[in-house]
Amino acid sequence: MKTTLPTEPIGSIPRSAELLAAIQKFSGPELEPYYEAAVNDTIHRFEETGSPVITDGEQRKSSFVTYPLTGLRNLTSAGVVIPFKDGHTRQLPALASGPFHFGSYAVDDLRKAKRIARRTLKQPVVAVSALSLLYPATEIKGYSRAAFMDDLVRECIKDIRHCLDEGVHVQIDFTEGRLAVKLDPSKTLLKSFIELNNLVLSAFSSSERQRIGVHTCPGGDHDSTHSADVDYAQFLPELFQINAGNFYVQLSSEPDRKRALKIMQPFSQGTRRIFVGVTDPLSKRIETAKEIKDSILEATHFIRPENLGTTDDCGFSPFCDDVSTSRDTAFAKISNRVEGNTLASQIL
Ligand SMILES: [Zn+2]
Repeated sequence: MKTTLPTEPIGSIPRSAELLAAIQKFSGPELEPYYEAAVNDTIHRFEETGSPVITDGEQRKSSFVTYPLTGLRNLTSAGVVIPFKDGHTRQLPALASGPFHFGSYAVDDLRKAKRIARRTLKQPVVAVSALSLLYPATEIKGYSRAAFMDDLVRECIKDIRHCLDEGVHVQIDFTEGRLAVKLDPSKTLLKSFIELNNLVLSAFSSSERQRIGVHTCPGGDHDSTHSADVDYAQFLPELFQINAGNFYVQLSSEPDRKRALKIMQPFSQGTRRIFVGVTDPLSKRIETAKEIKDSILEATHFIRPENLGTTDDCGFSPFCDDVSTSRDTAFAKISNRVEGNTLASQIL
């Protein structure tokens, strides 16, 4: 029996030099033509790769985590700091006062992309657990953490609901999952993150949750990671406690892929689909279609084709100013993923 494995990107594509220059110079409506041109070009190039599922390359997002904060005035810049292995850091904003609501929703970008795309779009959204880090360590007067969490959960449900209503699949970017084990090896933090995501997911029916996926990776920024040293055995079994239908798991850059696949094996059952990473956005080297085919066939020794899919390990530029990978390299890797996926599917 021939099985065509599903293959999907994670989301982001590096922004062009023109777009980044325009972001420095303009704001609001003046920036719109640049965003429009960037999305147009990105979707066109995505479709040329043959990828059956595409995104808008997150061209309009400031980052995978900060897009809902666009235009908000009740934030300070002094939030949680995320250290990466190469020494650089990213700092999240912090909430200064309540109430909290999204400044923009993922569906705003999705509706604009839908006007251009001819292939199936999927929409990445931020995880509720990532945004929970916005609340400062000291209580905000007149706006308790509990009140913030109520508002946040409601907004995250709305963010996903609006995208599902547009008929697309949704991917929750849960990059802080593996990091949580590094910050708190007792896994109390990870378990609280998972509970929070399940609270959001409980607002959806089981058939809707089949259209929702979760992406995990050790972070990907300026070709560096924040939690690749966390043992997958300490993390993956917990990850699969999330009540979603699809999982998008970084795998190609793991030092021991077979071990990671073995850990995932018992969780690859029922209607759950595990998309394993077969390209590494942090490496300049473009994996060949044959290499990708071989790594997919390796995965089928552990995960049955009906539970398997393929993806990239991460987005190619989760933060908009990360130009460590070129657009050409990103699309070359995606083209080879699609070709490798086809070659493997012909054998299965
Ligand atoms: Zn990622």
